[in-house]
Amino acid sequence: MAKQAVSLEVLSYHASAQVEEVDRIRRYTIPTCDDFKLYDFKFSDFDLSEDQTIQASLRMFLDCNLVTEYHIPYEVLCRWLLSVRKNYRPVIYHNWRHAFNVAQTMFAMFKSGKMEKFLSKLELFVLLVACLCHDLDHRGTNNAFQQKTESALSQLYSTSTMEHHHFDHSIMILQTEGNNIFQFLSAEDYRVALTMLETAILSTDLALYFKYPDSSF
Ligand SMILES: [Zn+2]
Repeated sequence: MAKQAVSLEVLSYHASAQVEEVDRIRRYTIPTCDDFKLYDFKFSDFDLSEDQTIQASLRMFLDCNLVTEYHIPYEVLCRWLLSVRKNYRPVIYHNWRHAFNVAQTMFAMFKSGKMEKFLSKLELFVLLVACLCHDLDHRGTNNAFQQKTESALSQLYSTSTMEHHHFDHSIMILQTEGNNIFQFLSAEDYRVALTMLETAILSTDLALYFKYPDSSF
């Protein structure tokens, strides 16, 4: 058990963003949504540096007023975003920039698509988090590959294998010291947030999506 505890300690240290990096990010003045064109469905991340993708993510949380509403310590939000980015692998498609683009599209749907008025504050919060986390630790291979190679992951989850892993990994990051952006949620909101996060991430398994009777519309 002690050996396992040490391994976990080492893993969570390397999974989390480092102090210097968090310090650099938290000192930035964050540009506006218009500066980054975050309201635009034609948004492109191509011109943004790695740090600017973090700044733009911070701007989306600030613009939805989530930092004040849920008392997220700014430093924790910066660390969590950096940790999430760090836990994406440099694969061709399912990488950090993909997650960031999905979050921006969701944000544009809230704001320019006016979806915001039909959702609760907590739903806005969790959906943004889910977008950023939905492909965490993706290896560039799909669920069928996991099953055919009898990977450890597919032994753990026989259906929606990768999606379960993305959710588990999101929880692992949240539970790593200094990364819990949900820490000041009420007990009830916390419970709802985690259930919603799980549902949202598992729903990104397109095999499930195409089973919905009206998914052709
Ligand atoms: Zn994805």
